[in-house]
Amino acid sequence: MTSFADDDEDSARPKSLRLYLPGPVTTDPRVRQAMARDWGVWDAEFRALTERVRKYILKVAGVEQTHGCVLVQGSGSFGVEAMVQTFLPRDGRLLIPVNGKYGERIVSICEKLGRDHVVLHFPQGEAVDPVAVDKALAADTAITHAILVHCETSAGTINPLEEIARIIKARGRKVLIDAVSTFGAFDLDAKRLGYDALATSPNKCFEGVPGCAIVVAPVEVLRGATGNAQSHSLDLADQWSQFEATGQWRFTPPTFVMAALGEALRLHEAEGGSAARLDRYRRNHQALADAMEGQGFVPLVPRAEQAPVVISYRDPADPCFDFGRFYTGLRDLGFMIYPGHLTEIPTFRVACIGALNPQDMRDVADAIRQVCNEMGITDFAPAPLL
Ligand SMILES: *Cc1c(COP(=O)(O)O)cnc(C)c1O
Repeated sequence: MTSFADDDEDSARPKSLRLYLPGPVTTDPRVRQAMARDWGVWDAEFRALTERVRKYILKVAGVEQTHGCVLVQGSGSFGVEAMVQTFLPRDGRLLIPVNGKYGERIVSICEKLGRDHVVLHFPQGEAVDPVAVDKALAADTAITHAILVHCETSAGTINPLEEIARIIKARGRKVLIDAVSTFGAFDLDAKRLGYDALATSPNKCFEGVPGCAIVVAPVEVLRGATGNAQSHSLDLADQWSQFEATGQWRFTPPTFVMAALGEALRLHEAEGGSAARLDRYRRNHQALADAMEGQGFVPLVPRAEQAPVVISYRDPADPCFDFGRFYTGLRDLGFMIYPGHLTEIPTFRVACIGALNPQDMRDVADAIRQVCNEMGITDFAPAPLL
């Protein structure tokens, strides 16, 4: 019988691993180092860290006292689910434009919560159409809120958030935003967008580690949201009141996640904030797109519509292409991509966010070519679309 430890040693693991995932992302060694000690959960030092993080998030959102920042244990989806149930009144009706997996996840959240909703479908890989959103709002006056996934990370599609937010508000409805894969790099100014709530997570553009979710909302919206949530642990209005009153989390906080986030936000500020980070992601995106297209790979979303977050490439048509071998081949070389297909048309995804630079993107493109060559593939063109 093998022990737990033996089992672990058995697994062949490359010495260093870079994550080309749209979350959790590759972290800076200093972020990992920040988790190397214990924290007293209810101690003043940890309370100060929580306070510092909440303040900095608001600064990134472009606001101060007018808004509140609530943190909640869990992954980004916990934040989205908490946002929906806290800010959509029980008798509200939510419009959900869907052009990929994360939009579908919000539909599933509403179904489980029993919240009234209307779904507006768009083809995967295509952006949500603002005109269709406007028509849907005009046609159904019972809709009180609309939610938009800013970057539909499953295909790498960026949705026209600013225009759609303007339309929703012009129709007198409230805006909720899933900005999990964009906040911290893209300009998501709270005053300009005028949202009721925005959800994000530490392990995407902030380059922290997974374990909590972050929600920003105007103070008056937070005050008015009491009693909406049907879950106690995901009630953001309740957690916000507690933060304001005592500076404490209601339940055991993810101390290591917060320690890493504190360091990640220090690095975010030192890099020059969201604008500088987006600039690096743009350079990463360009380096990746140039290298991959130069080798003959074809993206699912045309380059002009790609977000500098993640690119989905069509699988090569060559019958020798085996996704399982492709994935493990890359992993054994120290390059981690998403281990599956998320789109109807077979694609693999390579992310450009995280503590990575343009050279890291050229490195992964080289490794992709090498692994394909080892499978006997030299022509990377996908099958023609019907
Ligand atoms: C990553 C992500 C989420 C949250 O996913 P988790 O796996 O729960 O962290 C939600 N929405 C979008 C758009 C994302 O990219």
